[in-house]
Amino acid sequence: MIHQSFTFRASAATFAFFFALLIAFSTSPMNAQTRRGTRQGRITRRTSVTTARNGRVSFDPEIARIVSEVEPRNIERTIRTLVSFGTRNTLSAQDDPKRGIGAARDWLYDEFSKVARDSGGRMIVEKQMFEQPVDKRFPRILKPTILTNIVATLKGAQPASVNRTYVVSGHYDSMCTSPTDAICDAPGANDDASGVAASLELARVMSKRNFDATIIFMAVAGEEQGLVGSTYFAEQAKQKNTDIEAMFTNDIIGSSLGGNGVRDPNTIRVFSEGVPSNETTEEGNTRRGVGGENDSASRQLARFIKENTERYVPNMNALLVYRRDRYLRGGDHIPFLERGFPAVRFCEINENYHHQHQNVRTENNIVYGDLPEFVDFNYTAKVARVNAANLASLALAPVAPKSVGIITKNLTNDTELRWTPNTEPDLAGYEIVWRDTTSPVWTNSRFIGNNATFTARGMSKDNYFFGVRAIDRQGHRSPVSFPRPVR
Ligand SMILES: [Zn+2]
Repeated sequence: MIHQSFTFRASAATFAFFFALLIAFSTSPMNAQTRRGTRQGRITRRTSVTTARNGRVSFDPEIARIVSEVEPRNIERTIRTLVSFGTRNTLSAQDDPKRGIGAARDWLYDEFSKVARDSGGRMIVEKQMFEQPVDKRFPRILKPTILTNIVATLKGAQPASVNRTYVVSGHYDSMCTSPTDAICDAPGANDDASGVAASLELARVMSKRNFDATIIFMAVAGEEQGLVGSTYFAEQAKQKNTDIEAMFTNDIIGSSLGGNGVRDPNTIRVFSEGVPSNETTEEGNTRRGVGGENDSASRQLARFIKENTERYVPNMNALLVYRRDRYLRGGDHIPFLERGFPAVRFCEINENYHHQHQNVRTENNIVYGDLPEFVDFNYTAKVARVNAANLASLALAPVAPKSVGIITKNLTNDTELRWTPNTEPDLAGYEIVWRDTTSPVWTNSRFIGNNATFTARGMSKDNYFFGVRAIDRQGHRSPVSFPRPVR
């Protein structure tokens, strides 16, 4: 639906946009800027093309509507219902309709199935069940145990893009102080009913609409037992060669008030790794030679999230954290990273450890336990909006350019780039992005038309980092692809 209505409305704006770009760049070519920069020892005049464009031509009102439809009261209802099952420990009862992981599993399956009914048959909900044997990699699984991921797949509407897949998840299992205590109360309101509530609400809002690419909304099992459910899903995806271009895990996104007393309802952390978890020896050697430790696909995804959050959820600050996860902690993005799928973790900024992995009790007037009274449902809804803006932006944009190479045949002060041409029908062309090697984010961009090669004259690849992104006719941009050296 987005496509039909949006293409029509955007055509005039798109034309104006490219015309404006033509003017902008015909008067200030890249090499002129570089000469000026060289003379002064550094580039002093940032063209800020990206910033200037962000506010206008690439704003999609349909994405803004998706964001606005996320409802805090739905988030609250999901969290309170999941808490009502008493415990969702992986080793708890699977056949009790009122208490335990089985009751939570069946309720979630029903809720995702209700959402799928509004999708006109495009969303399929499955229980991905498997038996986890006793395995030294997962010491918290004490006996062979059935685990079930709830997987809701919204099929992409553009045939050339339908195999491209984005995954968003929260984990529905919980724990008290002991990860293998199946009896204690383990409300898990923040960790991680909040993430599951976001996943379900995103499914509800997005299932009514068409996106180019496929989106999978998940409630994952077994996180607290050692990322068992996400490991199974990611391994199956790898074996089936599923083209997962990005994965978001939402884990502990429920509170705006930290154990340090700091309240910040407007910030969400986005954790992304720098060096890929699946880097090969050869890739490591290249990286040591010419850099790239700050340019994994996951880090490009994080930068994409920052840009689109500024565009569509301006009251939220996506705080990029340049590490895979917090000290001593992990999450469901890690099995994806280990298999080469770009992934990030969303997490609240100030955690309160009295309300994580604690038996519910009061000691010295301190209430321990992960209870719903310590969750800020409005905050969780805002984090869900950040997810909505970014999932929609990804699934409407072209795929990030593939096989991007920086040509190293000769020593030259120019930079030559080439990549595999994109074949999606709504492609408009590509943007080259660049930055100083010390800059944390991309600072400059230039639209170069629909060509799969580009030479930045007078700009040495030794002095900047370059990247390439694809852009469609409505102005939706892909994440940036970082080039590898090629001959
Ligand atoms: Zn968690």
